[in-house]
Amino acid sequence: MGWSLFTFRMLWIPVAEPALAFMSAIGLALSYRLLYTTHYDTLTGLLNRNALRHALQQLLTHRSRFRRRETIGVIFLDLDHFKVINESLGRLAGDQLLLRVAERLRAELPRSARFARVSGDEFAIALQCSEPETLTTLAEALQQALSESFSLDGQSVTVSSSIGIAMTQMGHQHSSDNLFRDAQTAMYRAKVSGNGHYQVFSTGMLTEAIDRFTLENELRQGIAAQEFVLYYQPIVALDSEKIVGFEALIRWQHPQHGFIAPYRFIPLAEETGLIIPLGEWICQEACCQLNQWQHQFPELPLMLSINLSGRQFEQSDLSRRLAQIIRAEGIDGQRLKFEITESMLMGDVDNAIDSMLKLKSLGCKLGLDDFGTGYSSLSQLRRFPVDTIKVDQSFVQKMGKSDEDHEIVRMIISLGHILGMDLIAEGVEIKEDVDALRSLDCEYGQGYFWSKPLPAAQATELLQQPYLRPESQSTQIDI
Ligand code: C2E
Ligand code: MG
Ligand code: MG
Repeated sequence: MGWSLFTFRMLWIPVAEPALAFMSAIGLALSYRLLYTTHYDTLTGLLNRNALRHALQQLLTHRSRFRRRETIGVIFLDLDHFKVINESLGRLAGDQLLLRVAERLRAELPRSARFARVSGDEFAIALQCSEPETLTTLAEALQQALSESFSLDGQSVTVSSSIGIAMTQMGHQHSSDNLFRDAQTAMYRAKVSGNGHYQVFSTGMLTEAIDRFTLENELRQGIAAQEFVLYYQPIVALDSEKIVGFEALIRWQHPQHGFIAPYRFIPLAEETGLIIPLGEWICQEACCQLNQWQHQFPELPLMLSINLSGRQFEQSDLSRRLAQIIRAEGIDGQRLKFEITESMLMGDVDNAIDSMLKLKSLGCKLGLDDFGTGYSSLSQLRRFPVDTIKVDQSFVQKMGKSDEDHEIVRMIISLGHILGMDLIAEGVEIKEDVDALRSLDCEYGQGYFWSKPLPAAQATELLQQPYLRPESQSTQIDI
């Protein structure tokens, strides 16, 4: 027994100890890796969301270091349209960009700042400073640092960012979670005011975020209670000033708040997926209206444009559902035009073209809405089976004031014509723009100059007069 134990020990020591040492090294490496991934972002090596919250909590609880009148703040930064960059240049390039963004941001930060990548294209910074202005100055410096273009695989890429700032001072109770949430809320608010802005959190924003929750519930109930209505805005041939069709635009008749414009609920409907049932209702209602017009005005070859949202466009059975509606309403599919935007065509271009061809197989036309505001490239544009380009109103409305915008409109119109498409100028408000568009050979116009969007009955009245007279606008409902 003694001998065998001795033999065992003799054998064990040389074989087992290095093995144990090896295993504990692996164990150490694994636990280090575990520790690393629970605290750090694997792509950039920055802190992750949890670690930043922890660091923020420490800043808030170590009151001894939190001297009188010192401010603790969170800067929450989100890259604008990163999804589009990621989808058009690929994930690898997207990752490269995030690394380079992280580098540039880090270079602007004071050494004491805790810097984290909190999710995909979102970064956050927690820091202690002597006055609140330090945070806004830093936010400006961060946005400035990103304003210079990045070179990725020989391509020049420009990014902008939206920033939210939240802060707390000595004597104010604040949890790290609340401060973090407030900074994020302020960032969303900055995004609404346009790309490349920053916003400092105010309590009003929080009530707004709570309102958003209420709005979602009300949207759900509103769809069930059919509180929505379609308005119709005429589209006019610029040469004859006759109505050639309408665009259907949704409004919400809220029982307490009255009319609610689409910009207030369409984004939320998209986010929550409620746009699918709502979109289906829009198509049904618009097709039903077109049916009535086809019967009432058989001599008018009216087109009806319907806006499609990205979520609807992604649905694999969209064309089948639309075919059912067209059949049920007994309308001519050729009288329908679906408006999509450039951003819906980014990403998987072949897939997008496939979806477009399915819609075209129903006889329907396709329009590219808000053209000029997205990122579609010339090579992609020529592959899209689009019939109409709608020049975005931001260019149309400035064309009289700036040569540059006039030139942009001219180029978009020429481009559309080269590609065999017709053009609608959106947001036409003044006579000078009508004349300029005519001289640029733009076929159609849409805007307050002729008419605001109208309820169906008033739109029908417009069809009874041969020409649209801008002065008849005084009788319109202002919406
Ligand atoms: P859009 O499709 O580009 O529609 C044109 C918007 O410009 C409409 O705003 C219209 O009222 C407005 N507009 C037209 N002419 C003028 C003008 O001369 N001056 C100015 N300042 N504005 C003009 P609206 O109805 O508030 O709709 C905003 C956006 O909401 C639409 O932009 C579209 O993206 C979305 N939307 C509206 N209805 C629907 C819908 O039924 N489905 C979906 N998915 N989106 C919709
Ligand atoms: Mg539209
Ligand atoms: Mg538009």
